[in-house]
Amino acid sequence: QYLIQTFGNKTELPVTCGDKDGILHVEKYNDMEKCILSEDQWFKPNEFERFGGKGRNKKWKTSIFCDIFPLQKLIEFSISVFFIFCFLSVCEFVVESNSRNNDDNGDVVDEDDKDIIDMTMFEDLILSVTCGSGSGILHKCRFATGRCGRCIRTKDFWLTPEDFIRLNMPDGTWRKDILSNGIPLGKLIMKRVLELHMITCDCKLCEDLDQDLNDDMCYVCDSEEDLLCCDECPRAFHSLCHLPAVHEDSPGQWSCTFCVMKKMEGSNQKTLQDVLSSPVSQYTLHCQYLLLHLLHESKTNVPGFSQNIFGLGRMKLKLENNDYQTVQEFVTDIELIFNNCCTSSEGSDVSIMTSRLKEVFKREFETIFKLL
Ligand SMILES: [Zn+2]
Ligand SMILES: [Zn+2]
Ligand SMILES: [Zn+2]
Repeated sequence: QYLIQTFGNKTELPVTCGDKDGILHVEKYNDMEKCILSEDQWFKPNEFERFGGKGRNKKWKTSIFCDIFPLQKLIEFSISVFFIFCFLSVCEFVVESNSRNNDDNGDVVDEDDKDIIDMTMFEDLILSVTCGSGSGILHKCRFATGRCGRCIRTKDFWLTPEDFIRLNMPDGTWRKDILSNGIPLGKLIMKRVLELHMITCDCKLCEDLDQDLNDDMCYVCDSEEDLLCCDECPRAFHSLCHLPAVHEDSPGQWSCTFCVMKKMEGSNQKTLQDVLSSPVSQYTLHCQYLLLHLLHESKTNVPGFSQNIFGLGRMKLKLENNDYQTVQEFVTDIELIFNNCCTSSEGSDVSIMTSRLKEVFKREFETIFKLL
């Protein structure tokens, strides 16, 4: 009670360490910045500990005091406030934290210096996440709770945090065991990088759990609206971005070229020469697949690259108009585009992108044609 009255909503706290006085700015502390101002200098807590002559303690939480309390006490206090908040708002959280040991408060407090996190790593709208050997991309705008909101895009699915855990670490808990840049999601919620929805929330994400199985953006052009969703994979396309173009009134299930290609019966292995001299009509799907791949992989903000790679869009038209006779002609056109990009200096973003694209093309070409 005394703590709540004294420190409940203070934004600045007077602190001492050894013979030094300072002011701790709570918001800066929460944002993991240098947060203690003393003698006109800003310090991180561990730096202030050294400044106060207590560096050898290496435990700033107990060597920096606020009033008669070591910071440790205040941090525990603020965490318990956080837990109370969650208790009131998210029953799911309570179930999970109750099932934990008492000495385990969800890894929200790291030891010492680890508490200072570079928050700029988490500013993007998407975060790479890992769990065990699994990895994916978490889209912040799709995040709701562990159970709701398919926010993690893996190679093959959109998953909720709980789905992601189930798949990669069945004994784990999503708050502790899904990490982004080494930081657990639970901590990112505390740091307000992720906004946890309440159990009573009736937003689109929380209400309809069968939604959002597909991407929000076109796989080819990255813009939204009027997307056609594949029924087998998470990809979505504009009807004209896909190859072949899709007539929207075609009823029933629809599978994208990637999924159709995946199910193709493995034909006999061929030599490169055989493939190149074959008519495109024999390998239409293969060529469409390759071009879609390249269009997807070439989406980037690298200046100069988009213009150079513009030719891929023209190739799409040529392929649709049956302008290519042999596979060789198709491949020559692609190589021409790569060569145009290669005129830029080595080591530049454009040339790095181009080599990556070349690699993708080579790998996919060899895979789908099952070259000897
Ligand atoms: Zn919600
Ligand atoms: Zn599109
Ligand atoms: Zn698909």
